[in-house]
Amino acid sequence: MFNFILFGPPGSGKGTQSIKIAEKYNFAHISTGDIFRKNIREKTALGLKVQGIIEKGELVPDELLLEILEDAMNSFKNKKGFVFDGFPRTLNQADDLEKILWKKNEKVSLVVALEVNDDEIIGRLLKRAELEGRKDDTKDVIENRISIYNNQTQPLIDYYMAKNTFTAVNGIGGIDDIFNAICDKIDQKI
Ligand code: ADP
Repeated sequence: MFNFILFGPPGSGKGTQSIKIAEKYNFAHISTGDIFRKNIREKTALGLKVQGIIEKGELVPDELLLEILEDAMNSFKNKKGFVFDGFPRTLNQADDLEKILWKKNEKVSLVVALEVNDDEIIGRLLKRAELEGRKDDTKDVIENRISIYNNQTQPLIDYYMAKNTFTAVNGIGGIDDIFNAICDKIDQKI
């Protein structure tokens, strides 16, 4: 199995690229954000629990991630690997992922970060707010999400660098150019 993490700040294009990667390599796409939004739409117990947190741009508590992650991973059959999109976001989650994979005799194969500066991100998320109306795409909430990313998620770069699994690509440019840059990194490791 190829266990791939697409890493980057909110609005860096992880969702768009993850779908394309999953399709090309026959990986299972796991977007924790999508799982939470589906639960909110369907008003499940989990959805009700996380709705307020997500609308404020805060992180959902790590233990709830653990709960959904194993279920999501076990729901796929006949896939050649995973694309993790929006997970892990904290060091704790990275350790949890390590343990889940370890139980399956697996480990993280590669982490690719999409590099996009703050000004570009804010612009993209405000534009997405107009198009999709996501409740967490307002100016204040966006700023909160970026600062949480800088404080809690960014440290994962050192974590994965120490494991020799981290690399980055420029996240600004055409969707296909960025996709090809990510594929090059995967092809070097797969
Ligand atoms: P983005 O990458 O644009 O911030 P996501 O769709 O990945 O959007 O996530 C939306 C929201 O869902 C996050 O702001 C957070 O509240 C919650 N969330 C998603 N994944 C996680 C995670 N791994 N840990 C904690 N909260 C998460």
